[in-house]
Amino acid sequence: MPAPPCTSCHAARAALRRPRSGQALCGACFCTAFEAEVLHTVLTGRLLPPGAVVAVGASGGKDSTVLAHVLRELVPRLGISLQLVAVDEGIGGYRDAALAAVRRQAARWELPLTVVAYEDLFGGWTMDAVARSTAGSGRSRSCCTFCGVLRRRALEEGARRVGATHIVTGHNADDMAETVLMNFLRGDAGRLARGGGLGSPGEGGALPRCRPLQFASQKEVVLYAHFRRLDYFSEECVYAPEAFRGHARDLLKRLEAARPSAVLDLVHSAERLALAASARPPRPGACSRCGALASRALCQACALLDGLNRGRPRLAIGKGRRGLDEEATPGTPRDPAQTPTPKAVPTF
Ligand code: SF4
Repeated sequence: MPAPPCTSCHAARAALRRPRSGQALCGACFCTAFEAEVLHTVLTGRLLPPGAVVAVGASGGKDSTVLAHVLRELVPRLGISLQLVAVDEGIGGYRDAALAAVRRQAARWELPLTVVAYEDLFGGWTMDAVARSTAGSGRSRSCCTFCGVLRRRALEEGARRVGATHIVTGHNADDMAETVLMNFLRGDAGRLARGGGLGSPGEGGALPRCRPLQFASQKEVVLYAHFRRLDYFSEECVYAPEAFRGHARDLLKRLEAARPSAVLDLVHSAERLALAASARPPRPGACSRCGALASRALCQACALLDGLNRGRPRLAIGKGRRGLDEEATPGTPRDPAQTPTPKAVPTF
């Protein structure tokens, strides 16, 4: 049976049925609609003002590739300029190939690219070194906890180096829904309260961040990359199978099979969440070591690096964190004998 005509242009045959609306579209009309929806998200959320220098967090994967491509298409409408900023976490057998994809994109799209490496920023620590330190050898379930915090800091540093005024990341609706579920499952009220909206406005001197693909489903991101013939890296990080996020992803897939709107419902639920005054996290202050926004004595990045440098990486995770904060209050000298490596704790 031939495909039905595209319900938008009525000229071409439909190439897909949009997963959520059921609308039958040809590839060209789907891409136009996808770009218009991202533009709508950016304009209605007032995410990127004219004149903004936008650092795109580029990983080489499908989401950041689609985001960079769509924003490049929208540059004339938005009046912004783009910079690609990639983070090299130091993950052997994974990141080098992903960075090669980012380099190809930068060359093809004639966009400036800056690569910042954990090893340079964080006193010699790479993710492979963190994994060895946290597990003794091989991989650890906490790798992604370290990596997520350090990547956020590294992207901020890279964006500042290129003079960016805003940071955008490629998180899609499925990513956001998984994050909401993970925060519920961990009972993390503070993160739930911060996770709504389209990003962060740039508190405490941090650059404003946003997620223009936050309402785009993973399936449509893949379809857009397919129809635009985008070159991206699709292998999974070697540490991903250990991540707690995988459980949230499996649960979300089952929820979506039973209720197709589950992903967007979860994304919107985070926007509408309001915490009772008694449950609100303390008003953030400044990290006593680097000055970044922190709800305790040390920001997350400094706390994790401190634990690593002391040879006690788990000290900075979960309940151990309290002890670390107490030890690291301003004016408390650190015992050099507890620092197992000569790596300096960086300041930002
Ligand atoms: Fe980092 Fe985990 Fe992502 Fe790998 S899967 S890049 S360790 S956050």
